[in-house]
Amino acid sequence: MPNFSLSDSVFFEAAAQFSTPFHLYDEACIRKTARRFIKAFSGVPSFREYFAVKALPTPAILRILKEEGCGVDCASETELMLAKACGFSGDDIMFSANDVPPHEVVFARELGAYVNLDDFTHVEILKHNGGIPEEICLRFNPGGEFRIGTTIMGDPGNAKYGMTRDQLRQALLICKENGTRKFGLHSFLSSNTTDPAYYPTLARLLFETGRELMAETGLTLSFVNLSGGVGIPYLPDAPEADIEAIGAGVAEAYREVFTNNGIEGVAIKSELGRYMTGPNGWLVTHMINEKNIYKRYVGLDASACDLMRPAMYGAYHHITVPGKEHLPHDEQVDVTGNLCENNDKFAVDRMLPHCDIGDLVVIHDTGAHGRSMGYNYNGKLRCKEVLRCEDGSFKLIRRAETPADYFATLDIDPDFSKLHR
Ligand SMILES: *Cc1c(COP(=O)(O)O)cnc(C)c1O
Repeated sequence: MPNFSLSDSVFFEAAAQFSTPFHLYDEACIRKTARRFIKAFSGVPSFREYFAVKALPTPAILRILKEEGCGVDCASETELMLAKACGFSGDDIMFSANDVPPHEVVFARELGAYVNLDDFTHVEILKHNGGIPEEICLRFNPGGEFRIGTTIMGDPGNAKYGMTRDQLRQALLICKENGTRKFGLHSFLSSNTTDPAYYPTLARLLFETGRELMAETGLTLSFVNLSGGVGIPYLPDAPEADIEAIGAGVAEAYREVFTNNGIEGVAIKSELGRYMTGPNGWLVTHMINEKNIYKRYVGLDASACDLMRPAMYGAYHHITVPGKEHLPHDEQVDVTGNLCENNDKFAVDRMLPHCDIGDLVVIHDTGAHGRSMGYNYNGKLRCKEVLRCEDGSFKLIRRAETPADYFATLDIDPDFSKLHR
């Protein structure tokens, strides 16, 4: 499972209905992923997923996940507004912002969202911006290196997030003076990992820290938020996360640290983004240019503005050429976008079947941190988003940007007929 990949005919059908480029998301795949994930955690008390909105902030998708029982994790005022517009409220919302503008905390409090404090100084900010709630969440940064066995999984000592162990205690004591009774604990220590030990190791660290903090502060630990980070196989032969083993590992840590010590009622939350929607999205493009100089370049009608991960992290995204996948992959090419930036390459030295102008080219695993990370460099307009519904029909769920969108923030003649040639 869960790489419920689509057949080439689906991409041809979608491209016959919508001009490229567009991100295509599959509703059935998203629902299956959500159901499988939630089932894998059925042995964990009061488990709930809060989908990380930044991964795919599109109402049609958020509503699907809402129907599957998920809440949302927001990090900005606009994400909170989006959550509200999609019908999320109160304890459906986790607000995990860092370097937070104070007025955004006020809005989160108005919505009744959980506020996840990233820093000790935010206790004071919260006090004067919406007030300290009865139930608060704190983000922990254990510092140093985060290891599982001998493997370094993350570098919290160099991460800007969270507070130190001692700051957790101090923050809780001040919150307690101001009326807090219960607290949650959160930490994000490793990104895009399919290692089945990640969540269980993180869970144990948070469970034990939470248990100590209860003793030190007299407050009740009401939940542990395991945050995001469970990864997906971007490379075709990479292993996928064994989500059933991960759920079982967290349940076992729960029994050992909580149940066996007479601690009850600690709910478990997650904030996965990538795992939920990443493999269930594809950037569908056409090849519009070819270029042969010292290398061969396959030029697409999309750019890093539609999918930034390869340019930003050198990330691998699998690429297929529908209708040509049975041919030998014997041509080494760079697959490019059209920005004036040499890192605007979806792939470097990739072996593909010979491509011609007009070929459909599909970039895989774009369902998380894809369209949402996009930008407008070179005045490029970000592409549309299409949903393949459960009945196999296609629906436009976000139109492409237009020049009017680009000019909307400028004091300029809005008569586009005059601007255009
Ligand atoms: C980005 C982020 C997530 C989601 O991360 P994924 O890698 O998509 O699972 C969850 N929580 C917080 C606080 C984040 O910043």
